[in-house]
Amino acid sequence: MNQFDNYIDGEWVRGATTSANLNPSNLDDVIGEFAQADDAQTRDAIAAARRAFARWSLSTPQQRFDLLDQAGSVILARKAELGRLLAREEGKTLPEAIGEVGRAGQIFKFFAGEALRIGGESVPSVRPGMTVEMTREPLGVIGLITPWNFPIAIPAWKIAPALAYGNTVVIKPADLVPASTWELVKIIAEAGAPAGVINLVMGRGSVVGEAIVNSPDVDAVSFTGSVATGRAIGAKCFATGKKFQLEMGGKNPMVIVDDADLDVAVEACINGAFFSTGQRCTASSRLIVTEGIHDRFVDALKARMKALKVGDALADGTHIGPVVDDRQLQQDERYIAVAREEGGEVFGGERVEASTRGYFLAPALVTNTTAAMRINREEVFGPVATVIKVKDYHEALAVANDTEFGLSAGICTTSLSLASHFRRHVQAGMVMVNTATAGVDYHAPFGGRKGSSYGPREQGSYAREFYTTVKTSYINPGAV
Ligand code: NAD
Repeated sequence: MNQFDNYIDGEWVRGATTSANLNPSNLDDVIGEFAQADDAQTRDAIAAARRAFARWSLSTPQQRFDLLDQAGSVILARKAELGRLLAREEGKTLPEAIGEVGRAGQIFKFFAGEALRIGGESVPSVRPGMTVEMTREPLGVIGLITPWNFPIAIPAWKIAPALAYGNTVVIKPADLVPASTWELVKIIAEAGAPAGVINLVMGRGSVVGEAIVNSPDVDAVSFTGSVATGRAIGAKCFATGKKFQLEMGGKNPMVIVDDADLDVAVEACINGAFFSTGQRCTASSRLIVTEGIHDRFVDALKARMKALKVGDALADGTHIGPVVDDRQLQQDERYIAVAREEGGEVFGGERVEASTRGYFLAPALVTNTTAAMRINREEVFGPVATVIKVKDYHEALAVANDTEFGLSAGICTTSLSLASHFRRHVQAGMVMVNTATAGVDYHAPFGGRKGSSYGPREQGSYAREFYTTVKTSYINPGAV
Protein backbone atom coordinates (compact mmCIF):
# COMPACT_ATOMS: atom_id res chain seq x y z
CA MET A 1 0.00 0.00 0.00
CA ASN A 2 1.30 3.45 -0.91
CA GLN A 3 2.19 5.67 2.05
CA PHE A 4 1.93 9.45 1.78
CA ASP A 5 3.86 11.54 4.30
CA ASN A 6 3.52 15.02 5.68
CA TYR A 7 5.82 17.71 4.27
CA ILE A 8 7.62 19.77 6.89
CA ASP A 9 10.64 22.05 6.50
CA GLY A 10 11.47 20.65 3.07
CA GLU A 11 11.32 16.97 4.18
CA TRP A 12 8.73 14.23 3.81
CA VAL A 13 8.05 12.89 7.30
CA ARG A 14 5.98 9.99 8.62
CA GLY A 15 2.88 10.93 10.62
CA ALA A 16 2.01 9.78 14.12
CA THR A 17 -0.48 7.37 12.47
CA THR A 18 -2.02 6.90 9.01
CA SER A 19 -5.52 6.93 7.59
CA ALA A 20 -6.84 5.16 4.47
CA ASN A 21 -8.21 7.32 1.63
CA LEU A 22 -11.10 5.44 -0.04
CA ASN A 23 -12.73 5.89 -3.44
CA PRO A 24 -16.44 6.71 -2.86
CA SER A 25 -17.31 5.11 -6.23
CA ASN A 26 -15.67 1.85 -5.15
CA LEU A 27 -14.90 1.26 -1.49
CA ASP A 28 -12.62 -1.64 -2.38
CA ASP A 29 -10.27 0.83 -4.08
CA VAL A 30 -7.87 2.28 -1.49
CA ILE A 31 -5.98 5.27 -2.89
CA GLY A 32 -3.34 5.16 -0.17
CA GLU A 33 -2.47 5.47 3.50
CA PHE A 34 -2.05 9.13 4.39
CA ALA A 35 -0.04 10.44 7.35
CA GLN A 36 -1.97 11.85 10.29
CA ALA A 37 -0.04 14.56 12.09
CA ASP A 38 -0.31 15.09 15.83
CA ASP A 39 -0.05 18.30 17.80
CA ALA A 40 3.77 18.18 18.06
CA GLN A 41 4.25 17.61 14.31
CA THR A 42 1.88 20.47 13.51
CA ARG A 43 3.93 22.71 15.79
CA ASP A 44 7.09 21.62 13.93
CA ALA A 45 5.46 22.67 10.64
CA ILE A 46 4.48 26.06 12.06
CA ALA A 47 8.00 26.61 13.43
CA ALA A 48 9.48 25.76 10.01
CA ALA A 49 7.13 28.23 8.32
CA ARG A 50 8.13 30.89 10.86
CA ARG A 51 11.86 30.36 10.15
CA ALA A 52 11.31 30.39 6.38
CA PHE A 53 9.28 33.61 6.54
CA ALA A 54 12.39 35.66 7.36
CA ARG A 55 13.82 35.04 3.87
CA TRP A 56 10.69 34.39 1.79
CA SER A 57 9.10 37.67 2.90
CA LEU A 58 12.11 39.43 1.35
CA SER A 59 12.22 37.33 -1.84
CA THR A 60 11.92 39.25 -5.09
CA PRO A 61 8.67 39.31 -7.08
CA GLN A 62 10.59 37.48 -9.81
CA GLN A 63 11.41 34.56 -7.47
CA ARG A 64 7.77 34.28 -6.45
CA PHE A 65 6.58 34.62 -10.05
CA ASP A 66 8.95 31.84 -11.15
CA LEU A 67 7.81 29.44 -8.41
CA LEU A 68 4.10 29.94 -9.03
CA ASP A 69 4.42 30.01 -12.81
CA GLN A 70 6.39 26.75 -12.81
CA ALA A 71 3.90 25.08 -10.43
CA GLY A 72 1.03 26.27 -12.65
CA SER A 73 2.68 24.82 -15.76
CA VAL A 74 3.14 21.42 -14.12
CA ILE A 75 -0.43 21.33 -12.82
CA LEU A 76 -1.77 22.14 -16.29
CA ALA A 77 0.50 19.61 -17.99
CA ARG A 78 -0.64 16.88 -15.57
CA LYS A 79 -4.32 17.81 -15.45
CA ALA A 80 -5.67 14.56 -16.91
CA GLU A 81 -3.74 12.42 -14.41
CA LEU A 82 -4.43 14.69 -11.43
CA GLY A 83 -8.09 14.94 -12.46
CA ARG A 84 -8.33 11.17 -12.36
CA LEU A 85 -6.91 11.11 -8.85
CA LEU A 86 -9.29 13.86 -7.76
CA ALA A 87 -12.34 12.07 -9.21
CA ARG A 88 -11.18 8.89 -7.49
CA GLU A 89 -10.88 10.42 -4.04
CA GLU A 90 -13.79 12.91 -4.08
CA GLY A 91 -16.30 11.39 -6.51
CA LYS A 92 -17.00 14.23 -8.92
CA THR A 93 -17.04 13.07 -12.53
CA LEU A 94 -13.80 12.87 -14.50
CA PRO A 95 -14.58 15.90 -16.72
CA GLU A 96 -15.54 17.94 -13.64
CA ALA A 97 -12.35 16.85 -11.87
CA ILE A 98 -10.10 17.64 -14.83
CA GLY A 99 -11.81 21.02 -15.05
CA GLU A 100 -11.07 21.65 -11.37
CA VAL A 101 -7.39 20.79 -11.84
CA GLY A 102 -7.21 23.10 -14.85
CA ARG A 103 -8.65 25.85 -12.73
CA ALA A 104 -5.99 25.22 -10.04
CA GLY A 105 -3.29 25.57 -12.69
CA GLN A 106 -4.77 28.83 -13.98
CA ILE A 107 -4.97 30.16 -10.42
CA PHE A 108 -1.23 29.59 -10.01
CA LYS A 109 -0.58 31.37 -13.32
CA PHE A 110 -2.79 34.29 -12.27
CA PHE A 111 -1.08 34.72 -8.89
CA ALA A 112 2.36 34.39 -10.49
CA GLY A 113 1.43 37.62 -12.29
CA GLU A 114 0.01 39.14 -9.12
CA ALA A 115 3.42 38.78 -7.46
CA LEU A 116 4.63 41.37 -10.01
CA ARG A 117 1.60 43.62 -9.60
CA ILE A 118 1.52 44.21 -5.84
CA GLY A 119 2.33 47.89 -6.27
CA GLY A 120 1.41 50.62 -3.83
CA GLU A 121 -0.14 54.07 -3.71
CA SER A 122 0.81 57.56 -2.67
CA VAL A 123 -1.29 60.57 -1.75
CA PRO A 124 -0.19 64.21 -1.50
CA SER A 125 0.21 65.07 2.16
CA VAL A 126 -1.85 67.81 3.76
CA ARG A 127 1.44 68.98 5.31
CA PRO A 128 3.97 70.92 3.23
CA GLY A 129 6.87 68.93 1.83
CA MET A 130 5.67 65.61 3.24
CA THR A 131 4.99 62.49 1.15
CA VAL A 132 2.52 59.77 2.18
CA GLU A 133 2.95 56.27 0.75
CA MET A 134 0.96 53.09 1.21
CA THR A 135 2.77 49.81 0.62
CA ARG A 136 1.74 46.21 1.17
CA GLU A 137 3.69 43.66 3.19
CA PRO A 138 3.14 39.96 3.81
CA LEU A 139 1.42 38.89 7.03
CA GLY A 140 3.67 36.02 8.11
CA VAL A 141 2.71 32.38 8.65
CA ILE A 142 -0.70 31.55 7.20
CA GLY A 143 -2.67 28.50 8.35
CA LEU A 144 -4.94 27.11 5.63
CA ILE A 145 -7.82 24.76 6.48
CA THR A 146 -9.80 23.37 3.56
CA PRO A 147 -12.96 21.28 2.95
CA TRP A 148 -13.36 18.09 0.95
CA ASN A 149 -15.50 19.25 -1.97
CA PHE A 150 -12.82 21.02 -4.04
CA PRO A 151 -9.70 19.00 -3.14
CA ILE A 152 -7.30 20.95 -5.37
CA ALA A 153 -8.98 24.24 -6.36
CA ILE A 154 -9.53 25.51 -2.82
CA PRO A 155 -6.00 24.66 -1.62
CA ALA A 156 -4.75 26.35 -4.82
CA TRP A 157 -6.76 29.53 -4.34
CA LYS A 158 -5.39 29.87 -0.80
CA ILE A 159 -1.76 28.70 -1.28
CA ALA A 160 -1.10 30.69 -4.48
CA PRO A 161 -1.96 34.17 -3.13
CA ALA A 162 -0.36 33.40 0.25
CA LEU A 163 2.96 32.64 -1.47
CA ALA A 164 2.63 35.32 -4.17
CA TYR A 165 2.48 38.05 -1.54
CA GLY A 166 5.45 36.68 0.44
CA ASN A 167 3.83 34.63 3.21
CA THR A 168 4.72 31.10 4.27
CA VAL A 169 2.09 28.37 4.60
CA VAL A 170 0.96 25.48 6.76
CA ILE A 171 -1.93 23.68 5.06
CA LYS A 172 -4.29 21.09 6.48
CA PRO A 173 -6.53 19.54 3.82
CA ALA A 174 -9.81 17.82 4.63
CA ASP A 175 -9.15 14.34 6.03
CA LEU A 176 -11.42 12.75 3.39
CA VAL A 177 -9.41 13.99 0.39
CA PRO A 178 -5.70 14.48 1.19
CA ALA A 179 -4.29 13.06 -2.08
CA SER A 180 -4.90 16.06 -4.35
CA THR A 181 -3.36 18.50 -1.87
CA TRP A 182 -0.45 16.10 -1.34
CA GLU A 183 0.27 16.18 -5.10
CA LEU A 184 -0.13 19.95 -5.19
CA VAL A 185 2.36 20.46 -2.36
CA LYS A 186 4.82 18.08 -4.04
CA ILE A 187 4.55 20.10 -7.25
CA ILE A 188 5.24 23.35 -5.38
CA ALA A 189 8.20 21.77 -3.56
CA GLU A 190 9.65 20.44 -6.82
CA ALA A 191 9.11 23.79 -8.49
CA GLY A 192 11.71 25.16 -6.06
CA ALA A 193 9.95 26.36 -2.90
CA PRO A 194 12.64 26.84 -0.26
CA ALA A 195 12.37 24.61 2.84
CA GLY A 196 9.62 25.74 5.21
CA VAL A 197 7.82 27.99 2.69
CA ILE A 198 5.08 25.39 2.16
CA ASN A 199 4.26 22.76 4.79
CA LEU A 200 1.61 20.04 4.63
CA VAL A 201 0.12 18.50 7.77
CA MET A 202 -2.66 16.02 7.13
CA GLY A 203 -5.05 14.79 9.77
CA ARG A 204 -8.12 15.53 11.81
CA GLY A 205 -9.60 18.96 12.34
CA SER A 206 -9.84 18.42 16.07
CA VAL A 207 -6.09 17.73 16.26
CA VAL A 208 -4.20 19.40 13.38
CA GLY A 209 -6.77 22.13 12.72
CA GLU A 210 -6.98 23.04 16.40
CA ALA A 211 -3.18 23.14 16.70
CA ILE A 212 -3.01 25.62 13.80
CA VAL A 213 -5.82 27.80 15.08
CA ASN A 214 -4.50 27.91 18.66
CA SER A 215 -0.83 28.50 17.78
CA PRO A 216 0.58 31.92 18.74
CA ASP A 217 3.04 31.50 15.84
CA VAL A 218 0.35 31.53 13.13
CA ASP A 219 -0.46 35.07 12.01
CA ALA A 220 -3.59 34.42 9.95
CA VAL A 221 -6.02 31.61 9.14
CA SER A 222 -7.99 31.17 5.92
CA PHE A 223 -10.75 28.61 6.37
CA THR A 224 -13.34 27.12 4.03
CA GLY A 225 -15.92 24.69 5.39
CA SER A 226 -19.13 24.52 7.36
CA VAL A 227 -20.66 27.37 9.35
CA ALA A 228 -20.36 25.61 12.72
CA THR A 229 -16.64 24.87 12.30
CA GLY A 230 -15.96 28.28 10.78
CA ARG A 231 -17.59 30.21 13.59
CA ALA A 232 -15.71 28.20 16.24
CA ILE A 233 -12.42 28.82 14.41
CA GLY A 234 -13.22 32.53 14.04
CA ALA A 235 -13.79 32.89 17.79
CA LYS A 236 -10.44 31.22 18.55
CA CYS A 237 -8.61 33.33 15.97
CA PHE A 238 -10.05 36.46 17.50
CA ALA A 239 -9.05 35.33 20.98
CA THR A 240 -5.46 34.70 19.85
CA GLY A 241 -5.22 37.90 17.78
CA LYS A 242 -5.07 36.34 14.32
CA LYS A 243 -6.42 37.78 11.12
CA PHE A 244 -8.99 35.36 9.71
CA GLN A 245 -11.17 34.73 6.72
CA LEU A 246 -14.10 32.28 6.68
CA GLU A 247 -15.88 30.91 3.61
CA MET A 248 -18.79 28.78 4.72
CA GLY A 249 -22.09 27.29 3.65
CA GLY A 250 -24.90 28.35 1.35
CA LYS A 251 -28.60 27.87 0.67
CA ASN A 252 -28.46 29.48 -2.72
CA PRO A 253 -31.66 30.59 -4.43
CA MET A 254 -32.34 30.33 -8.15
CA VAL A 255 -35.36 32.44 -9.16
CA ILE A 256 -37.29 31.45 -12.28
CA VAL A 257 -39.87 33.98 -13.40
CA ASP A 258 -42.72 33.61 -15.91
CA ASP A 259 -40.78 35.21 -18.78
CA ALA A 260 -37.75 32.90 -18.41
CA ASP A 261 -36.49 30.86 -21.35
CA LEU A 262 -37.55 27.39 -20.15
CA ASP A 263 -34.56 25.54 -21.66
CA VAL A 264 -32.07 28.01 -20.19
CA ALA A 265 -33.75 27.74 -16.77
CA VAL A 266 -33.81 23.94 -16.77
CA GLU A 267 -30.14 23.66 -17.80
CA ALA A 268 -29.07 26.24 -15.20
CA CYS A 269 -30.93 24.31 -12.50
CA ILE A 270 -29.71 20.85 -13.53
CA ASN A 271 -26.15 22.13 -13.46
CA GLY A 272 -26.47 24.31 -10.36
CA ALA A 273 -28.43 21.86 -8.25
CA PHE A 274 -27.08 18.45 -9.20
CA PHE A 275 -23.70 18.55 -10.94
CA SER A 276 -20.76 17.71 -8.69
CA THR A 277 -23.42 15.68 -6.81
CA GLY A 278 -24.80 18.96 -5.41
CA GLN A 279 -21.73 19.14 -3.18
CA ARG A 280 -20.90 22.76 -3.93
CA CYS A 281 -21.23 25.67 -1.53
CA THR A 282 -22.72 27.58 -4.48
CA ALA A 283 -25.23 24.82 -5.41
CA SER A 284 -28.77 26.00 -6.27
CA SER A 285 -30.65 24.30 -3.46
CA ARG A 286 -33.80 26.48 -3.52
CA LEU A 287 -35.58 26.90 -6.87
CA ILE A 288 -38.04 29.75 -6.44
CA VAL A 289 -40.55 29.65 -9.29
CA THR A 290 -43.38 32.03 -10.16
CA GLU A 291 -46.79 30.42 -10.63
CA GLY A 292 -47.20 31.12 -14.37
CA ILE A 293 -44.23 28.90 -15.31
CA HIS A 294 -44.18 26.57 -12.28
CA ASP A 295 -45.88 23.46 -13.70
CA ARG A 296 -44.10 23.60 -17.07
CA PHE A 297 -40.76 24.13 -15.33
CA VAL A 298 -41.21 21.26 -12.85
CA ASP A 299 -42.29 18.85 -15.61
CA ALA A 300 -39.33 19.77 -17.81
CA LEU A 301 -36.88 19.55 -14.92
CA LYS A 302 -38.12 16.10 -13.90
CA ALA A 303 -37.84 14.87 -17.50
CA ARG A 304 -34.26 16.14 -17.65
CA MET A 305 -33.43 14.57 -14.24
CA LYS A 306 -34.61 11.16 -15.49
CA ALA A 307 -31.92 11.31 -18.20
CA LEU A 308 -29.09 11.89 -15.72
CA LYS A 309 -26.81 8.91 -15.24
CA VAL A 310 -25.62 8.37 -11.66
CA GLY A 311 -22.58 6.14 -11.30
CA ASP A 312 -18.83 5.64 -11.04
CA ALA A 313 -17.08 9.01 -11.23
CA LEU A 314 -14.48 7.58 -13.63
CA ALA A 315 -16.92 5.88 -16.03
CA ASP A 316 -17.69 7.38 -19.42
CA GLY A 317 -21.10 8.99 -19.58
CA THR A 318 -21.61 9.48 -15.82
CA HIS A 319 -23.35 12.79 -15.11
CA ILE A 320 -23.44 12.52 -11.32
CA GLY A 321 -20.80 10.73 -9.27
CA PRO A 322 -21.23 9.31 -5.78
CA VAL A 323 -21.83 11.17 -2.53
CA VAL A 324 -18.47 11.66 -0.80
CA ASP A 325 -18.96 9.29 2.16
CA ASP A 326 -21.42 7.41 4.29
CA ARG A 327 -21.95 10.27 6.74
CA GLN A 328 -22.87 12.71 3.96
CA LEU A 329 -25.13 10.10 2.34
CA GLN A 330 -26.99 9.63 5.61
CA GLN A 331 -27.31 13.41 5.97
CA ASP A 332 -28.78 13.69 2.44
CA GLU A 333 -31.28 10.91 3.15
CA ARG A 334 -32.20 12.39 6.52
CA TYR A 335 -33.03 15.72 4.90
CA ILE A 336 -35.08 14.01 2.17
CA ALA A 337 -37.06 12.27 4.94
CA VAL A 338 -37.49 15.55 6.83
CA ALA A 339 -38.77 17.24 3.65
CA ARG A 340 -41.35 14.47 3.25
CA GLU A 341 -42.47 14.75 6.85
CA GLU A 342 -42.89 18.50 6.36
CA GLY A 343 -45.28 17.90 3.45
CA GLY A 344 -42.89 18.07 0.49
CA GLU A 345 -43.37 15.75 -2.50
CA VAL A 346 -40.11 14.00 -3.33
CA PHE A 347 -39.15 13.02 -6.88
CA GLY A 348 -36.01 10.81 -7.10
CA GLY A 349 -33.65 10.66 -4.13
CA GLU A 350 -33.38 6.88 -3.96
CA ARG A 351 -30.15 4.90 -3.73
CA VAL A 352 -28.76 3.68 -7.06
CA GLU A 353 -27.47 0.12 -7.46
CA ALA A 354 -24.05 -0.28 -9.09
CA SER A 355 -21.54 -3.03 -9.73
CA THR A 356 -19.17 -1.53 -7.13
CA ARG A 357 -19.74 -0.67 -3.46
CA GLY A 358 -20.21 3.10 -3.52
CA TYR A 359 -22.44 5.89 -2.21
CA PHE A 360 -24.74 6.42 -5.19
CA LEU A 361 -27.84 8.57 -4.76
CA ALA A 362 -30.27 9.70 -7.46
CA PRO A 363 -30.84 13.47 -7.54
CA ALA A 364 -33.91 14.55 -5.56
CA LEU A 365 -36.38 17.33 -6.28
CA VAL A 366 -38.76 18.31 -3.49
CA THR A 367 -41.84 20.18 -4.69
CA ASN A 368 -44.69 21.72 -2.71
CA THR A 369 -42.38 23.35 -0.17
CA THR A 370 -42.52 26.64 1.69
CA ALA A 371 -39.71 28.96 2.75
CA ALA A 372 -40.29 28.15 6.42
CA MET A 373 -39.56 24.41 6.10
CA ARG A 374 -36.28 23.07 7.47
CA ILE A 375 -35.38 21.74 4.02
CA ASN A 376 -35.34 25.37 2.84
CA ARG A 377 -33.40 26.75 5.78
CA GLU A 378 -30.51 24.32 6.40
CA GLU A 379 -27.70 23.36 4.04
CA VAL A 380 -27.98 19.72 2.87
CA PHE A 381 -24.83 19.63 0.71
CA GLY A 382 -26.07 16.86 -1.59
CA PRO A 383 -28.01 16.38 -4.85
CA VAL A 384 -31.21 17.69 -3.29
CA ALA A 385 -33.12 20.77 -4.50
CA THR A 386 -36.50 22.17 -3.53
CA VAL A 387 -39.11 24.10 -5.45
CA ILE A 388 -40.90 27.00 -3.76
CA LYS A 389 -43.89 28.30 -5.76
CA VAL A 390 -44.45 32.06 -5.48
CA LYS A 391 -46.96 34.55 -6.91
CA ASP A 392 -44.61 36.99 -8.63
CA TYR A 393 -41.06 38.33 -8.87
CA HIS A 394 -41.34 40.47 -5.73
CA GLU A 395 -42.36 37.51 -3.62
CA ALA A 396 -39.53 35.51 -5.24
CA LEU A 397 -36.98 38.15 -4.24
CA ALA A 398 -38.29 38.23 -0.67
CA VAL A 399 -38.05 34.42 -0.42
CA ALA A 400 -34.56 34.45 -1.98
CA ASN A 401 -33.39 36.82 0.77
CA ASP A 402 -35.22 34.93 3.54
CA THR A 403 -32.17 32.94 4.62
CA GLU A 404 -29.24 33.24 6.99
CA PHE A 405 -26.88 32.60 4.05
CA GLY A 406 -25.77 34.89 1.20
CA LEU A 407 -23.20 33.24 -1.05
CA SER A 408 -24.58 32.99 -4.60
CA ALA A 409 -27.99 33.76 -6.12
CA GLY A 410 -29.41 33.42 -9.61
CA ILE A 411 -32.31 34.55 -11.74
CA CYS A 412 -33.61 33.22 -15.05
CA THR A 413 -35.48 35.92 -16.91
CA THR A 414 -35.59 37.57 -20.33
CA SER A 415 -36.38 40.94 -18.73
CA LEU A 416 -33.46 43.33 -18.37
CA SER A 417 -35.30 45.35 -15.75
CA LEU A 418 -36.02 42.32 -13.53
CA ALA A 419 -32.44 41.09 -13.91
CA SER A 420 -31.11 44.54 -12.97
CA HIS A 421 -33.45 44.83 -9.99
CA PHE A 422 -32.46 41.37 -8.77
CA ARG A 423 -28.73 42.09 -9.14
CA ARG A 424 -29.10 45.16 -6.96
CA HIS A 425 -31.46 43.78 -4.31
CA VAL A 426 -30.55 40.16 -3.74
CA GLN A 427 -28.40 39.71 -0.64
CA ALA A 428 -25.54 37.60 -1.99
CA GLY A 429 -21.85 37.92 -2.75
CA MET A 430 -22.31 36.59 -6.30
CA VAL A 431 -25.26 36.98 -8.68
CA MET A 432 -25.88 34.94 -11.80
CA VAL A 433 -28.27 35.91 -14.62
CA ASN A 434 -29.48 33.05 -16.85
CA THR A 435 -26.66 30.79 -15.67
CA ALA A 436 -26.10 28.35 -12.80
CA THR A 437 -25.40 29.68 -9.30
CA ALA A 438 -22.25 27.52 -9.28
CA GLY A 439 -19.31 27.84 -11.67
CA VAL A 440 -17.15 30.95 -11.50
CA ASP A 441 -14.08 32.46 -13.16
CA TYR A 442 -10.68 32.01 -11.54
CA HIS A 443 -9.64 35.67 -11.75
CA ALA A 444 -12.73 37.29 -10.20
CA PRO A 445 -13.45 37.71 -6.48
CA PHE A 446 -15.35 34.92 -4.75
CA GLY A 447 -17.28 35.11 -1.49
CA GLY A 448 -20.56 35.84 0.19
CA ARG A 449 -22.49 37.83 2.74
CA LYS A 450 -24.45 37.16 5.92
CA GLY A 451 -23.76 33.72 7.43
CA SER A 452 -21.85 32.48 4.36
CA SER A 453 -18.65 34.47 4.69
CA TYR A 454 -16.54 36.55 7.00
CA GLY A 455 -13.63 38.74 5.98
CA PRO A 456 -12.23 39.87 2.65
CA ARG A 457 -12.98 38.11 -0.64
CA GLU A 458 -10.88 35.26 -1.99
CA GLN A 459 -9.47 35.02 -5.54
CA GLY A 460 -8.64 37.58 -8.16
CA SER A 461 -6.65 40.63 -7.17
CA TYR A 462 -9.06 41.10 -4.23
CA ALA A 463 -7.19 38.27 -2.49
CA ARG A 464 -4.45 40.72 -1.54
CA GLU A 465 -6.78 42.29 1.06
CA PHE A 466 -6.45 39.19 3.18
CA TYR A 467 -2.90 38.06 2.41
CA THR A 468 -1.17 41.43 2.89
CA THR A 469 -1.15 44.17 5.44
CA VAL A 470 -0.92 47.85 4.53
CA LYS A 471 1.86 50.09 5.81
CA THR A 472 1.45 53.87 5.60
CA SER A 473 4.72 55.83 5.54
CA TYR A 474 5.13 59.58 6.07
CA ILE A 475 8.35 60.87 4.56
CA ASN A 476 9.75 64.27 5.37
CA PRO A 477 12.63 64.96 2.97
CA GLY A 478 14.15 67.36 5.51
CA ALA A 479 15.69 70.71 4.72
CA VAL A 480 17.06 71.06 1.16
P1 NAD B 1 -16.03 21.09 7.81
O1 NAD B 1 -16.35 22.38 8.47
O2 NAD B 1 -16.49 19.84 8.44
O3 NAD B 1 -14.44 20.93 7.65
C1 NAD B 1 -13.66 21.89 6.97
C2 NAD B 1 -12.22 21.77 7.44
O4 NAD B 1 -12.15 22.14 8.83
C3 NAD B 1 -11.66 20.34 7.36
O5 NAD B 1 -10.31 20.39 6.95
C4 NAD B 1 -11.77 19.87 8.79
O6 NAD B 1 -10.86 18.83 9.12
C5 NAD B 1 -11.44 21.14 9.54
N1 NAD B 1 -11.89 21.17 10.94
C6 NAD B 1 -12.92 20.47 11.49
N2 NAD B 1 -12.99 20.74 12.82
C7 NAD B 1 -12.01 21.62 13.10
C8 NAD B 1 -11.59 22.28 14.28
N3 NAD B 1 -12.20 22.08 15.45
N4 NAD B 1 -10.55 23.13 14.22
C9 NAD B 1 -9.92 23.37 13.04
N5 NAD B 1 -10.27 22.76 11.88
C10 NAD B 1 -11.30 21.90 11.91
O7 NAD B 1 -16.55 21.21 6.31
P2 NAD B 1 -16.56 20.08 5.17
O8 NAD B 1 -17.60 19.07 5.53
O9 NAD B 1 -15.17 19.62 4.88
O10 NAD B 1 -17.03 20.93 3.89
C11 NAD B 1 -18.36 21.17 3.58
C12 NAD B 1 -18.74 22.60 3.94
O11 NAD B 1 -17.84 23.51 3.30
C13 NAD B 1 -20.12 22.99 3.46
O12 NAD B 1 -20.79 23.71 4.46
C14 NAD B 1 -19.84 23.91 2.26
O13 NAD B 1 -20.85 24.83 1.97
C15 NAD B 1 -18.59 24.57 2.71
N6 NAD B 1 -17.85 25.14 1.57
C16 NAD B 1 -17.82 26.50 1.43
C17 NAD B 1 -17.15 27.08 0.35
C18 NAD B 1 -17.09 28.57 0.20
O14 NAD B 1 -16.18 29.05 -0.47
N7 NAD B 1 -17.99 29.33 0.78
C19 NAD B 1 -16.51 26.26 -0.59
C20 NAD B 1 -16.57 24.88 -0.41
C21 NAD B 1 -17.23 24.34 0.68
